[in-house]
Amino acid sequence: MSKLFRNNIAAMRGYIPGEQPQDSGYIKLNTNENPYPPPPAVLTRLRDACNGDLRLYPDPDAHVLRAKLGEVFSVDSQQIIVGNGSDELLNIIIRSFAGEGDKIVYPNPTYGYYQPLIDIQGATAVPVEFPADYSLPNDLAIPGARITFLANPNGPSGTLLPYSQVAALCARIDGVLVVDEAYVDFSQGGCIRLIDEHRNAIVVRTMSKSFSLAGMRIGFAFAPAELITGMWKVKDHYNLNRLSLVAAEAALENIDVMRAHAAQVCETRQRLSGRLLELGFYVWDSQSARA
Ligand code: PMP
Repeated sequence: MSKLFRNNIAAMRGYIPGEQPQDSGYIKLNTNENPYPPPPAVLTRLRDACNGDLRLYPDPDAHVLRAKLGEVFSVDSQQIIVGNGSDELLNIIIRSFAGEGDKIVYPNPTYGYYQPLIDIQGATAVPVEFPADYSLPNDLAIPGARITFLANPNGPSGTLLPYSQVAALCARIDGVLVVDEAYVDFSQGGCIRLIDEHRNAIVVRTMSKSFSLAGMRIGFAFAPAELITGMWKVKDHYNLNRLSLVAAEAALENIDVMRAHAAQVCETRQRLSGRLLELGFYVWDSQSARA
């Protein structure tokens, strides 16, 4: 590779995203997209938004969306930041809180994008192996770590750690705890209240899974206002385009549809798990979109 690159970029492998085949004919499970479509009202609002206003930049502060998120999740809008998918928020978090050589911890195996983001930053990844039952690793609180990522529910295991354990971890660690709740709507969990109790907590969510909007790239995160203010300096100013903003607002106005679809996914998961158990397979107690 060209010597023009920074050493860590030259050395790293680069993330390989889940394949998006161009032809149909697959039952597509590899990237955990929702099998159900977005609500018709979201599609109507999107079509209506395809007008001459697209010549204008979007609202860099996403005022309307953040106010709606605040209402739905009972969080002050100053404690909310939105991203071009939750992947962008993970990126913003790393750039905000960790520099070259700083330690970033995550239990392993987990979401495969943390590692390349850490490599790009030149920070040091500290993967800590999950025990066989995917319970919280005892040694996850690494002294001096700037960031600890915790996907909860976790992917690929689908397992969920209880709020009390996440809160205890948050109190114990140095640096920020990032609870990545991409699959939370398929579980009984949820850690948003962490942000009122801990000054180092960030909870990240996405509209890619339960809201059936992976194609629009919408993520949102909750954190104490002081952390949001700092992360704001790092984010691209116009990170959510006009159409994504409209889709996200409409999706929240139709949140009952998301909840109904999530319930259907959980029902299917239950049925599939039951059949697999009958066939003699071991099945994790999944709280994510996976069986
Ligand atoms: N976190 C986890 C645990 C994920 O599985 C994914 C998607 N594969 C993401 C974050 C990123 O989701 P998005 O960027 O689509 O919001």
